Amino acid sequence: MTTPLQVLVTGATGRTGALVVQKLQQRPEQFTVRGFARSGQKANDLFGDAVEIYLGDITQPEKLAPALAGCDALVILTSAIPQMVAPPEPGQRPEFVYPEGGTPEQVDYQGQLNQIDAAKAAGVKHIVLVGSMGGTNEQHPLNRMANGNILIWKRKAEAYLIDSGLDYTIIRAGGLQDQPGGQRELLVSKDDTMLTQPPDGIPTAIPRADVAAVVVQALLLPAARNKAFDVISKPEGTPGAVVTTDFQALFEQTTPGL
Ligand code: NAP
Repeated sequence: MTTPLQVLVTGATGRTGALVVQKLQQRPEQFTVRGFARSGQKANDLFGDAVEIYLGDITQPEKLAPALAGCDALVILTSAIPQMVAPPEPGQRPEFVYPEGGTPEQVDYQGQLNQIDAAKAAGVKHIVLVGSMGGTNEQHPLNRMANGNILIWKRKAEAYLIDSGLDYTIIRAGGLQDQPGGQRELLVSKDDTMLTQPPDGIPTAIPRADVAAVVVQALLLPAARNKAFDVISKPEGTPGAVVTTDFQALFEQTTPGL
């Protein structure tokens, strides 16, 4: 019997982060999971006493060291969260701002660098980082939102992770959906090619539950080590689609480097 991997999930109270925590918890022979969150109330509402939670803000590096002590792997699922300024007038687009201290540069760049540095100092061997497709295009609407350049900052942090010398798996998801996982064929690629040329014109989207499953498999399968890839799913029920269950084969289609 092997010792379970000790994993820290940051952004544990986020929509994908919470799913990853739950999926890891369901495999006690393989994983022992801790969460890192900034709201004790939110963590308690989601997990009660079932998960060991470390409280802190990723922009304050001193909070990360105790959470990472003794960990084999880190899953980064934090992200800056834009806020709507006010409900839009009819026919107008909503306006967004990032809260003070919560800009993409502070959270998705510096906050991720803090996590990578703290993980390295703690002797963590593998970081799984969930990011987003779209980072090759400065004009992507998410970059223009509140002039935050969120996908550009995320991609800079991904480059830092690759250069860190730690094993990495960078999962750049398409648009996230709150739908059940395990029911679709997953497609991987790189450099936003599925955004510029969507295969068969399908929407470039994927359920959060499928992203969480990819994270779990990336922690287990060596074929996911030192790889970065975009991932989307074929819509459920697409004729000819084969539901992805062989993650080894999926990861073998992915490549090293940004
Ligand atoms: P989410 O629900 O927005 O969760 C983000 C998490 O980050 C939250 O738990 C939040 O804490 C935490 N966080 C933010 N700032 C923090 C800080 N300074 N210190 C500590 N924690 C902090 O995430 P999601 O929608 O599941 O997305 C997961 C990832 O996929 C993100 O990187 C996102 O950019 C990416 N992605 C999203 C989409 C999409 O369609 N939305 C598409 C592709 C990729 P609280 O819980 O306290 O707020």
